[in-house]
Amino acid sequence: MRLPLIAACLCGPLSHPALAAYTVSLEDSPHPAPRFSLDLPDRHGEFLEAPAGAQIANVRCGHSLLPKQSDGRWRLSQACRQVRWEATLNTPPPEGPDASAQQSLALPGWAVLTSSTVLLRESGKPEGSILAIRVAGKPDTQAYVPATGEAPEFYAIGKGQETIRQVAGWQVRYVADDLTRVAARGLLDHHAEALTALRRVFPPPRPNAPFSGQLLVTLLGRDGASSANGAGGMRSLLVNYPRDTAERDTFLLAILAHEQSHQLLALAGVSMGSAWMSEGLAHYYGLKTMRQSRQPQAEKDKVWQLFVKPERTPAQGLARLERRHREGDKSAYPLFYS
Ligand SMILES: [Zn+2]
Repeated sequence: MRLPLIAACLCGPLSHPALAAYTVSLEDSPHPAPRFSLDLPDRHGEFLEAPAGAQIANVRCGHSLLPKQSDGRWRLSQACRQVRWEATLNTPPPEGPDASAQQSLALPGWAVLTSSTVLLRESGKPEGSILAIRVAGKPDTQAYVPATGEAPEFYAIGKGQETIRQVAGWQVRYVADDLTRVAARGLLDHHAEALTALRRVFPPPRPNAPFSGQLLVTLLGRDGASSANGAGGMRSLLVNYPRDTAERDTFLLAILAHEQSHQLLALAGVSMGSAWMSEGLAHYYGLKTMRQSRQPQAEKDKVWQLFVKPERTPAQGLARLERRHREGDKSAYPLFYS
């Protein structure tokens, strides 16, 4: 199992939540090709920046491509008032996308976007912002753009199959590649049960946190019983479900609760500081929520025993694992859950 680190930070509330700086537009097409723009103030930074691995192409002001200063850094003239660009979306492999990779994806008629891979950021401007979402044939909507250092945000735009439910006082928008299947499997109910339980435990959202009563849960099928990966965003979760078997659905409930914990902590502005603490706490609440759920006892015991082994003595300390993880050793990460 691989679950990504979600960094949470103590960041200030958005000063003008009604003003959307970013816009994404999507035509009605079986092959989604979102187009992005960013409106700039009179005085703005000298550069536009994107993190390593961003899926951004054709960055331009008017008809002119912006000169690239280095990877992920474009020089911006002071005269420019609006920048436009496109995203190079990944087409998932036949076995399905890996949610924990947090990439922006092209699906038939719709797209899943990750803020950190498709949105440029003005240099020297760490604040959160707003994304206006314009999809042909649908009402315009808005979503949160995280501040620097916050968890990413996921957006599902276009013709994904979706439904909206009220859960624990929140408006939850569920989008899936096969909504009938995930609803029939009870996966939406599993998530709702986890959110209801966790809302009682975690601190409330920061005052004035934009979109704090809204949540997007995107479920993407993947082959293989061990494919239950996920990622938690600021107002969103992105979660795989094994599409060919319901065998691991109790395990999946723990994953949904794990990612939901990340999201609630990020929303509350709780700073974690280290991967082991962030993952350890999310894992604790994932398992606790699963154990208190309405799933069959034998199933719950099976998942519990996968992770909780009182007879085992840890071979390495958390500080050492954290150091290995920060130095880029990918084998350290799964040990935060074991
Ligand atoms: Zn996690």
